[in-house]
Amino acid sequence: MNAVTTEKKIRVRFAPSPTGMVHVGNARTALYNWLFARRTGGEFLLRIEDTDLERSEVRYEMQLIEDLHWLGLDWDEGPGRLGNAPEGPYGPYRQSERLEIYAKHTEQLLNEGKAYRCFCTPEELEAERKQATAEHKPQVYSGKCRSLSQETIDQNLVAHKPYAVRLRIENHPLKFHDLVRGEVEFAPETVSDPILVRSAIGGASQGVPVYNYVVTVDDALMGITHVIRGDDHISNTPKQVAIYEAFGWTVPEFAHLSTILGADRERLSKRHGATSIASFREMGYLPEALVNYLALLGWGAEDGKTETFTLDELAQIFSLERVTPSPAVFDFDKLNWLNRHYIKLADPQRLAALALPYFSEKLAQATAPPEAWFLRLLAMILPSVDHLDQLPAKAAPIFDYDAEAGRTNPENAPLLNTDSVGIVLGEFAHRTRAHMGPITPELFKEWMNEIKAATGVKGKDLFHPVRIALTGAHSGPEFDKLLPLIEEGSSLGMGIQSVQERMQQFTGA
Ligand code: GLU
Repeated sequence: MNAVTTEKKIRVRFAPSPTGMVHVGNARTALYNWLFARRTGGEFLLRIEDTDLERSEVRYEMQLIEDLHWLGLDWDEGPGRLGNAPEGPYGPYRQSERLEIYAKHTEQLLNEGKAYRCFCTPEELEAERKQATAEHKPQVYSGKCRSLSQETIDQNLVAHKPYAVRLRIENHPLKFHDLVRGEVEFAPETVSDPILVRSAIGGASQGVPVYNYVVTVDDALMGITHVIRGDDHISNTPKQVAIYEAFGWTVPEFAHLSTILGADRERLSKRHGATSIASFREMGYLPEALVNYLALLGWGAEDGKTETFTLDELAQIFSLERVTPSPAVFDFDKLNWLNRHYIKLADPQRLAALALPYFSEKLAQATAPPEAWFLRLLAMILPSVDHLDQLPAKAAPIFDYDAEAGRTNPENAPLLNTDSVGIVLGEFAHRTRAHMGPITPELFKEWMNEIKAATGVKGKDLFHPVRIALTGAHSGPEFDKLLPLIEEGSSLGMGIQSVQERMQQFTGA
């Protein structure tokens, strides 16, 4: 007989809480889930974990959906799919819309005696904790309400005594298999009858189910086969395993991804610079660069050296076996290197559209269509930036010419204090005044040769003063590119001064 393999289809999920911006750690979790699903022909779904109603906000949900799409990720089920595609057969995919499902499952556990009502008050629990501390014992729940008589329970219910629902943990070690870390085992005491549903307080009819509980119910009901998430959830996992066991559900595979650290080996935080996906986008990182970088934060290609991958390439070769358990250090220099790499490869029109917001005010003042000119400006300055928000500073010599700043900048002083400066600039200014029409690179070269022959000044002493007079800085792009941009730009409005105007302002003549 032929063995029929009915391998379960791989299903993974990204389950963010919409309580803030998506940061690089979460985005990497989303990416690894996505890559694993695409690599294995499985399914990737998005579930919104918004049971914390006070901290969850719709704007964060919208933002995270936008961030994921921007990174190039799509999902097979869940809210916010591309093209408004249906959410899928396992919905609802927002936990706030699944409360009845959790309540039904709580009833089931209570009826089967796998969970029990705990009427302990916060004060009683606090007293227990204090005593445990005094006796140097672990702070675990005493199990006081584990075996209340039905009579006591009924009396308490009639008296509307608030209660939490706790899982009854059986006395055996709680094990799980982690694809990144191997076998992980916890003693049952460390879990100590965890709360599934918090006590209803303030007259609420129902208590709030806790994260460990709802995440397990959802993962099980949604058929999740692999739970890939940050390692801050390792200590939650035994509780979740116990819940799977109570329901008799198959425990999924787990893969806990290492923490991301800053260069000082402290947990990556705002202190280290940008951490949210939105802020990287605002700074002008290309999504393909960020996604490539995130892939390398804890995973490496088999050859151990290739570092540039498109999302499609990653989806062909990604494997959880190559994910490292050691913490990954976020390296802004490497991200910048990748961003420069992708800027080089990107279509100029696309880059222009991405760069536009940084220049929109200036370009709006143009008196003639500035597009072609803008593309040439970008071609000149893009090679010198790590991310696009640095472009305006690189374009400042064109847009924001400031003669006074050029004259007084201490960096320029040694170059402006030579004996020959006056004569070189005088010769150059004289030529600009006497010339009608734009100054082309050819004409510029001709003039510089003439000035060299007439004054005997050459090299640095010849070119630096002219550059400072025209741009305010002693270094910058080649004159061949710069001059046409200045001259043509000056005829497009936008406050760009011509070479002649610049010389006038700089020399005061
Ligand atoms: N909502 C949880 C978080 O954002 C999900 C954790 C999990 O993947 O189980 O951390």
